[in-house]
Parts: sequence; structure tokens; C-alpha cells
Amino acid sequence: MTKDDREFLFQLLKTPSPTGFEMPGQRVWADHLKPHATEVACDAYGSTWAKLAGKSDRTVMLAAHADEIGYMIKVIQPDGFLRLERIGGSDVATARGRRLTFFGDKGEVTGIIGNTAIHLRRDNGGDEKAPYIQDLWVDVGASNAKEVADLGLRVGHPGVYPDGHEEIQNRRLIGRALDNRIGGFIIAQVLKRIAKEKKKPEFTLLCMNTVQEEIGGYGAMMATYRHNPELCVCLDVTHATDTPGIDTAKHGATKLGQGPALTHGTSNHPLVVKRLIQVGEKAKIPLQHEASSRTTGTDTDKIFPIREGVPSALVSLPLRCMHSVVETVHLDDVDHVIELLTGLVLSLSAKDGFHQAL
Ligand SMILES: [Zn+2]
Repeated sequence: MTKDDREFLFQLLKTPSPTGFEMPGQRVWADHLKPHATEVACDAYGSTWAKLAGKSDRTVMLAAHADEIGYMIKVIQPDGFLRLERIGGSDVATARGRRLTFFGDKGEVTGIIGNTAIHLRRDNGGDEKAPYIQDLWVDVGASNAKEVADLGLRVGHPGVYPDGHEEIQNRRLIGRALDNRIGGFIIAQVLKRIAKEKKKPEFTLLCMNTVQEEIGGYGAMMATYRHNPELCVCLDVTHATDTPGIDTAKHGATKLGQGPALTHGTSNHPLVVKRLIQVGEKAKIPLQHEASSRTTGTDTDKIFPIREGVPSALVSLPLRCMHSVVETVHLDDVDHVIELLTGLVLSLSAKDGFHQAL
């Protein structure tokens, strides 16, 4: 990773982009790709793409989602405390005792999600249950509702945890929103690598940073309809289940640092998956495999049934502690996903087709 790439990665990671409010992160991503792409633009809701023209208009889309989970102000109480709504699958079990930064009309406002002192809680005998979202309260330093309004905050303003990112031992990268800002970073790296190739790729490459994945894949649907790609590889994170206390019989056995995971079944088109395996084997990229019996829970589910069907496949980056501020990925896996997706795009030739045949 070059110094410039590393700066881009950390800038992208730290820029808040909760679902429905993704534009700050999208602008960072777009600015980084403008010098390398044929076209950089966004749609009405903010899904942002970078296109690299190939020899033909036949298009391969690499999709990753730009949004992250967070919170919204639901109620401003007369006593100045705020109550919250979740954005996406925020884990309220880990919410108390954290800072929360809101993005209001006058800029950023930091508050705390209150944690009543252990001494003052009735049920502090070690068997406390996780709170409900309505149990959480936020203190932004205001004594009444007017003081909250004076800070530029109203109901509906979003917030995220301000926790930063860090590379710790053994190439582990930790922090919030690696799901799936790291995906936006990866597809940007793929585009830059292919732009540097001497030969133009056969297919036009469309790198798509979608909005609103965490609440249902709406950005992916709009983008797929608009661009009508011939095939798509969707990139998201998957649960690395190699930490204590996870039942692998129930949740599968995917490990951190053991390579990208390919998903089989449902939205994953057998011919696209087969090609990914071939590319991986040729480049000696370690691969892991996951089973999908119904849905993948990613944008892939929303991309493949658009129009008459888009042959698609999900490539996943193993990640520990999903939807927490200590999400963890392995930079070896990040490198391997970049290699796999680059190899896939470069493998496409004029005679390729991904339609099933009778
Ligand atoms: Zn995700």
C-alpha cells in the first residue's frame, strides 16, 4: 500500500457516512478516483460510481456499499436529554458509556450515551440485560430543549461513534465502519490498478459505491437499473467466526486472514463464481467458501433480480466484531480481495458470456 493509498484509506474510514447521509464519504471517494477514471458521477440519492472505459460497452460492475450504521435523534426532552433511533443494525448492547458525534445544522456536536454508574444501578449483580434502544439517553451538555436547539440539533439529525482507526499487530486494521468503507477502498484500488495496465480491458469497469445497503439495498437497486451491467461482483464483509464463543456449526467457519470468501447458492451465479475460483487458483489467492440457502444479506440480493437478471456473485472480506467500534480485518485479506477482483476484470474476454445454456 502506498503512502497516498494509506492516507485515502484512513480519510475514507474516518469520514462519517451513516445511511441516508452518505455524501461526505462519497465526496472523498469520488475525489480520489477522478484522476484515474473516465467518468465519476452520482445518482439522485448519492450512489457514486467511477467508470473506466474498456474496449467495449459491455460492463462489469464491482459494487460495495458506502453507508455505515449509526443513530438518529428521535426525541429532544424538555430536560435537554436526547433519545435515539437506530440507523441500520446498531448494537445497543455496546452503546452505553460511549461518545456519539451528531451532525447538526451548526456542525458537529459531541455527546455521550449515558451509563448510569454501576453503584447506582439496581441490577448490578452481573446478570444485567442489554438495554432497549428507548432506554438509551444522550447528554450533549444541554440543560433544556432550547439549549439543544441552540447547538443546531433537531430531531432527525444523524450521529456516529467518533472512535478512530488503527493498524495494530500482525496487519490487523481495527475501527468502526470497516463494514463496508473498506469495500469502497478495495474497489477504488482495483480501478487504479486496471487504469495502469498497458492494455485496455475488454469490458468497461463500473465501480459502484452504493447508498442505503444497511437498511435494504436501495442504492444498489437504483444503480443496477440505471447502468444495466452484464455481470456484477458485489463486495461486502462477512463474519469471521474464529473468535471465542461463536457456534461454527450454526454460523459457518470463516477465518480472519485466510482469504476472500466466495458465497455459493441463491443470488450467486454459478458461472461467475466459477470464474472467480479460476482466477483465484491461477493467482494462488487463498479462498474460503460460504453457503447461502436463501439470501446473502448484502446488496447482491438486490442486484441480481433487476430487469431480466444480472449474473452476480458475492465476494466477502472476513471481519470480526461486526457493527462495533472494534471491527477487525486482516490487511492480507484486503490485498487478496484486490488481487482477486483485479484478476476477474482482466480475465474477461470478448467471447465470454455468463448466461446459462440448455
Ligand atoms: Zn456491509
